[in-house]
Amino acid sequence: MKRKPLVFLSKCIEHGHCRYDGSQTSSIFIKKLEDYVDFVMACPEVEIGLPVPREAIRIIKPKDTELLVSSQTGVDVTEKMEAYSKEYVSQLKERNIHGFILKSRSPSCGIKDVKTYKTFGKAPSTGDKTTGFFGRVILENYQGYPIEDEGRLMNYNIREHFLTQIYTLMAFDEVLEKNTMKALIDFHSKNKYLLMAYHQMRQRELGKIVANHENKKVKDVINSYADLLRRSLEKPLRRGTNINMLMHLFGYFKKDLSASEKAYFLDTLEKYHMKKVPFSVPIAIIHAWVIRFDEKYLKQQTIFEPYPSEILDVNDSGKGID
Ligand code: SF4
Repeated sequence: MKRKPLVFLSKCIEHGHCRYDGSQTSSIFIKKLEDYVDFVMACPEVEIGLPVPREAIRIIKPKDTELLVSSQTGVDVTEKMEAYSKEYVSQLKERNIHGFILKSRSPSCGIKDVKTYKTFGKAPSTGDKTTGFFGRVILENYQGYPIEDEGRLMNYNIREHFLTQIYTLMAFDEVLEKNTMKALIDFHSKNKYLLMAYHQMRQRELGKIVANHENKKVKDVINSYADLLRRSLEKPLRRGTNINMLMHLFGYFKKDLSASEKAYFLDTLEKYHMKKVPFSVPIAIIHAWVIRFDEKYLKQQTIFEPYPSEILDVNDSGKGID
């Protein structure tokens, strides 16, 4: 059976009518993801005993401390939500989770841009933004992991980055399971150009960990690698490092290409640099050469398909194709 990434999902996104008014949030992307990832889901507000439908809750900031209260009657559920969130995370740690998709701007699940109010009732928003109570426990406990909300995932580039992260981390599970240097070397080798595109310096550091000159135990080497791998993938791909990686790949074919083919590629790269074409254009040209020249080492490189290409549809949203 094909492996799938394991992703936490706020239940009200396409999987439960558990919002305060009995509705759920729709998302074309999350619907599509159902075939490609395994979701573990929860609705923290329902889990702490709030009914559906219910009075909406909000974050109030009477002084410096934030409290989670029902918006009209002011019933304080801060302690309940904090206790539940910690307990949930301690249970979740027993599973090998690869990423999180949380409901945007929710006082419970939100990871950013959650409104705060001075008090309950007809009080205006303070103008300050914060994180939801459950969302912040996730952020604190899963630093470096892919954590997004369904609103941000409307952006093509953010979706692409998120998918690359969860699929790469899932592929690393095989190394964790086999627990051998051979599995680690294979992983590092297949991901060489992906890691170079993400962070060239860290790609070299990862190479040093694999070389294991200090003769550390296999388990320790793999753990150090896993930690740095997550940090290497933390920030989205950038144009400058992508161009550097593409030039490295181009180097493989220089001797086999005609002058006009080389000129066409370099012109395309310049267009990519000037933001006139997306990354998919120069990488597709290289991929075509990999196939044409039957370049075996490059054929296995994950940079050409870091996640199943059917998942991403540029029509899902017009935002952020880069
Ligand atoms: S945002 Fe979170 S707590 Fe609120 S309804 Fe959705 S899953 Fe439940």
